[in-house]
Amino acid sequence: MTAIILLGPPGAGKGTVAEVLAEKGYTHISTGALLREQIRLETPLGMDIKARMDQGRFVSDRVVVEMVREVLASAGGEKKFLFDGFPRTLAQAEIFDGILQSEGTSIDEVILLECADDAIIERLSGRRTCIKCGMVYHVKYNPASSAGVCDIDGCELIHRPDDNVETIRKRLDVYAERTAPLIAYYKAKGLILPVDASQSIDAVRSTVLEKLR
Ligand code: ADP
Ligand code: ADP
Repeated sequence: MTAIILLGPPGAGKGTVAEVLAEKGYTHISTGALLREQIRLETPLGMDIKARMDQGRFVSDRVVVEMVREVLASAGGEKKFLFDGFPRTLAQAEIFDGILQSEGTSIDEVILLECADDAIIERLSGRRTCIKCGMVYHVKYNPASSAGVCDIDGCELIHRPDDNVETIRKRLDVYAERTAPLIAYYKAKGLILPVDASQSIDAVRSTVLEKLR
């Protein structure tokens, strides 16, 4: 099994990079997408997840780790996995190392997407997301062919409720406090591949593909 992690602040472009890696045969695991699926299903767990997400807070490590465990268990066999937005805390990273170890494997690379806060605010303020397939667009940098409609499935594009300036700032604070320590954690293991994510979408995607070769 191959395991690659996409690390970086909200809006750095993790999902956008994941799209091209999925074309290279990686199975894309986005914990954000898995959590939004629980909200869509209106499960009791979904209600709690929504409350936290809308405030820009993290969902508990326990819930997120269990979700990842289930996805891996149901995938089975030899696979190339791309983790987008997981792990996001040191506790998640340590548990994840244990899960991989019990599978006789470990993390191959951690791609760190580096991007300044002002660019992030512009990116997330203009992000539009398909309500059905989760495909991501940007009103200026990656517009859909027909405004408000997904190119893939024709469904409605929405502005996520947590993509407003106030919640974005909160998410950036939470990132700095709880996720940024993972950079030192993975650096110490020699796994970090830094990428300048302030470049254009095409440039970031090709830099990542080049670094992974
Ligand atoms: P973004 O695209 O902004 O990085 P995601 O879709 O990855 O956002 O995540 C949206 C929200 O889902 C996060 O703000 C957080 O509330 C929750 N979430 C996603 N992944 C995790 C995780 N690994 N641990 C805790 N909460 C998470
Ligand atoms: P993340 O998964 O890290 O939260 P996304 O991939 O969803 O980030 O990207 C956030 C927003 O910024 C989206 O609207 C996306 O189209 C746009 N975007 C992503 N990468 C770039 C880039 N390199 N330059 C400009 N806009 C970008």
